[in-house]
Amino acid sequence: MMECQSCGMPMENPEDHADADVTSEFCHYCIVKGEFVVKDAASMKDHMVEMYMQQMGISRDAAAEKAEAMLKQLRRWQ
Ligand SMILES: [Zn+2]
Repeated sequence: MMECQSCGMPMENPEDHADADVTSEFCHYCIVKGEFVVKDAASMKDHMVEMYMQQMGISRDAAAEKAEAMLKQLRRWQ
């Protein structure tokens, strides 16, 4: 399964990809109308921290660590 190379979200279905284009390596949250919604890595990290805290019920520190590690793996932020 592909993961969005901007935010790390798993893309299970065609409609999870930007423009429902399965060859796109970015998800439909990250690219809207052909443009990145989140412009820089710092903002993306903030989004991820909030998401991980909510989804995983972990502390802000733990979420920040995970976000940091995830950003390092994603091609957009290399
Ligand atoms: Zn994404």
